[in-house]
Amino acid sequence: MKIYIEENLWDSFSFFDEIRALFNFTVEFKKYRFRDPYFLAYIRVRNPSERVFYEPLPLEIENEKRDLIQGVIYDGVELLKYFSQSIDISKPAVLITNRLIATPGDDMRYHLRMIVMSAAAVISLKGILYAPAKPPEYYIKSSLGFTEKIDIDVRKVLRMLILQFYAYFEYEEIFCSEKTCILYNCHTTEEINQVKGLCKKHVKMLEGVINPSLELRIF
Ligand SMILES: [Zn+2]
Repeated sequence: MKIYIEENLWDSFSFFDEIRALFNFTVEFKKYRFRDPYFLAYIRVRNPSERVFYEPLPLEIENEKRDLIQGVIYDGVELLKYFSQSIDISKPAVLITNRLIATPGDDMRYHLRMIVMSAAAVISLKGILYAPAKPPEYYIKSSLGFTEKIDIDVRKVLRMLILQFYAYFEYEEIFCSEKTCILYNCHTTEEINQVKGLCKKHVKMLEGVINPSLELRIF
């Protein structure tokens, strides 16, 4: 398995050991850089309720070159497509980025995502903080101007997402219906907190490839 870390995140990324410890096989880490600033500027989300792409301004392309991308959200499907075409996807490959990614939901509006996956996956570290819905008190407080710390165990969620992609890649397993299972598709911080480990079915499925200490205990 290869985990690509976007270049501008590499130095501050602190989860190498935690990811390695998930699997019984070698996980390789590599730096990754998007080579096409025009494309990155092109796939910015312009309108939360419509999936349209515009010709970017020269300044936007310039800002991409210089990583001045504060507050920018990217279309997750297009970002994943680009990444997938630039690497070998015969083995599981994941890109970890700090960029915010969004894809349209059933309501056709863009929603922030923690992960977008098909033949490869893009995981957004910022998305882990911002994408899951928070309890109502959080929104009330932040609307009143209180900057409350977002209470999410990034390490836990990152490992959940990597295992979810791995199960999907190797076994075509799309999520689990058990709310305590690592493979449950969480949308809220409360759901994330309920996850405890792998359910019996998924312990069996991933037996041999995951580190045995993961079985129902580690979270
Ligand atoms: Zn399960």
